[in-house]
Amino acid sequence: MHHARRQHDLQSMLSPHRLDGLLITHLPNVRYLSGFTGSSATLLITENKTVFFTDGRYATQARSEVQGSRVVVGRKAPIATAAEWLVKNCSKLHKARVRIGVEGDHLTIATRTRLQNTLSSEFLLPEAPALIERARMIKDAAEIELIRRAVQLAASLFDRILETVRPGATEAEVAAELEYAARKAGADEMSFPTIIASGERSSLPHGRASQAHIPSRGFVVCDFGVILAGYCSDTTRTVHVGQPTAEARKLYDAVREAQQAAIEAVKPGIKVADVDRAARKRLQKQGLSKYFTHSTGHGVGLEIHEPPRMAAGQAELLRPGMVITIEPGVYIPGKWGVRIEDTILVTERGCEVLTPTSKELITV
Ligand code: ZN
Ligand code: ZN
Repeated sequence: MHHARRQHDLQSMLSPHRLDGLLITHLPNVRYLSGFTGSSATLLITENKTVFFTDGRYATQARSEVQGSRVVVGRKAPIATAAEWLVKNCSKLHKARVRIGVEGDHLTIATRTRLQNTLSSEFLLPEAPALIERARMIKDAAEIELIRRAVQLAASLFDRILETVRPGATEAEVAAELEYAARKAGADEMSFPTIIASGERSSLPHGRASQAHIPSRGFVVCDFGVILAGYCSDTTRTVHVGQPTAEARKLYDAVREAQQAAIEAVKPGIKVADVDRAARKRLQKQGLSKYFTHSTGHGVGLEIHEPPRMAAGQAELLRPGMVITIEPGVYIPGKWGVRIEDTILVTERGCEVLTPTSKELITV
């Protein structure tokens, strides 16, 4: 990974944004820029310096993982150590005020108040624009390879789901078997709490695996992902227990066609809102769009949900190197639901579906 280059790119963006520095506390951003995988860290980037702060628990790990930055190990929380370092080293940068950007989405009000108290009024702490999130939207070749491997590992685990989804088994049992197999196959952890939603519960878009027993007939929505070397995968397949009725098959086909229509819309230069519209339009024809209650997808990388958001009203343009999900669903409350989700790489010419798992309606 090119951590030093990422830091350098960010440094060149500070001055155009009227910032003397950036204090990075969101751990996926810290990892992206420095390579550190632990849970206690703050990274300070100024125009000519990068300093990484952690506490004593991570001294050894930080020294072996952190790239392109000086490592400072403090006795306090990393952000408090960073504040003291700033006072010592960055006061009077030949200007009246030193502007250090903070990540508004990831800093509590209490932490910001403490920070301001340590720093005195000489320092201003404006909310920084999402510069790192924007950079992270475009994956480099090494990141794409890691995501590809995470998606493939998840695909190999889908067989485990097919073996365990049976009438009478609990949703939690299915999730447990899947997660056990994931860990044994080398996953760092799951990308998010596994969704196994059966029977009526399939109409809950985020029906976390519960103690409910899988009924003898009906859909089971299975949404799962693994993290491999820090990168997430995200896959949904909906299977059917028992023979599906003609109505169930029709619903499944409608979602599958909507998903295909959205995939076909994915290419560089297209607005993400237009991809969302492609899925919605297809469902509208069947009178189902009112049951599609979430956005069509999201970016995937170091985080399971990251920009771009594939939703109506979003003007972001697709660019090569983006990795997104396409996951339309239809949920009829109290009855049933279907979702199909693939992870997609935007390429120079169009897109590549990374998820190799079949989308035929599988009956178990
Ligand atoms: Zn998902
Ligand atoms: Zn998703």
